[in-house]
Amino acid sequence: MADLLVLCNVTDEMRTRLDGGFEYQLAKDLEDVDAWMETQGAAVEYLLTDGHLGVPQNILAGLPNLKAISSYGVGYDSIDTTVTNARGLPVSHTPSVLDDEVATTALLLYLSVMRNFPAEVAHAASGAWERDGGLGLSRSADNRKIGILGLGRIGKAFARKMEPFNADICYTGRSRQDVPYRYFADLAEMAAEVDALVCIAPGGPATHHLVNSEVLRALGPEGVLVNVGRGSVVNEVALVAALDAGEVGGAGLDVFENEPHIPQALRQNPNVVVTPHIGSATVETRRAMGDLSIDNLLEFKARGRMITPVPECSHLFE
Ligand code: NDP
Repeated sequence: MADLLVLCNVTDEMRTRLDGGFEYQLAKDLEDVDAWMETQGAAVEYLLTDGHLGVPQNILAGLPNLKAISSYGVGYDSIDTTVTNARGLPVSHTPSVLDDEVATTALLLYLSVMRNFPAEVAHAASGAWERDGGLGLSRSADNRKIGILGLGRIGKAFARKMEPFNADICYTGRSRQDVPYRYFADLAEMAAEVDALVCIAPGGPATHHLVNSEVLRALGPEGVLVNVGRGSVVNEVALVAALDAGEVGGAGLDVFENEPHIPQALRQNPNVVVTPHIGSATVETRRAMGDLSIDNLLEFKARGRMITPVPECSHLFE
């Protein structure tokens, strides 16, 4: 009987590690998960999911003896922690091990938009340079004012990566931190002062559409928006409208409101660079995330604790 149900994709390396600790069942190998849970669900004590899939209601209902949930990824806005807490279910995630990777993705998007890099690459590769001459000038990525919405683990890694570009960093969030960067309590006020607004905040109701038309207008016609946090943080309709009206200069986006859908208006805008939610998507970082997500389950099984529980459930271990 399986004691672990795996909802998310797992690599061969993760499978090898799971083999050593659990009797596991991959949901993707089941024709009907609900029918399987009716006969086998009572034996399942652990659940492995990811930040995209979360923990669907039918899964929670079908696993009456669940003891712990491990989520692959740092964002867990897809998991309702009031529901898991009500059942006394600890949830872990995979913070810190992906900070540099996601920060690099934000840096790449920032540089790509400022220097018009994807268009330059396509121009050279297509042979258009020889035929039509060069494209127009891009804008310097150096000596810019950069405002970070969400100066957390990844936000701080991004700020460090901007140091060689002589960036003047400021930030906003719910609280002022002990960092050498200027704090803004108001997002629109910060947007009005910066060349680029970089969003690395979590999703969920508290951050939903924080970047709205007022913030975008404040960012201005030369301003650039980068979003590697969650698509829900930016009002996508307002962003398309602001780009079309020339109220915002450009955008570099790794996350979207209805993934994997990316609005055509964003995909085809020459001032916008889009990537398919690849913030942490390298062999090395995904390996580290896989290891941590399994280590959390092994630690819980062996000692009743988790290495990186989400803050909302840490009281369950006190
Ligand atoms: P942290 O918890 O370390 O940082 C989050 C930051 O957001 C904090 O500085 C916090 O500051 C701020 N914040 C939280 N809530 C609010 C709010 N309501 N209003 C304003 N600011 C807020 O998280 P990480 O840096 O580890 O990760 C950040 C997010 O990045 C993840 O939640 C995930 O959604 C996203 N992510 C995206 C990836 C990708 O592939 N593109 C990969 C990995 C993560 P304060 O508490 O002061 O408000």
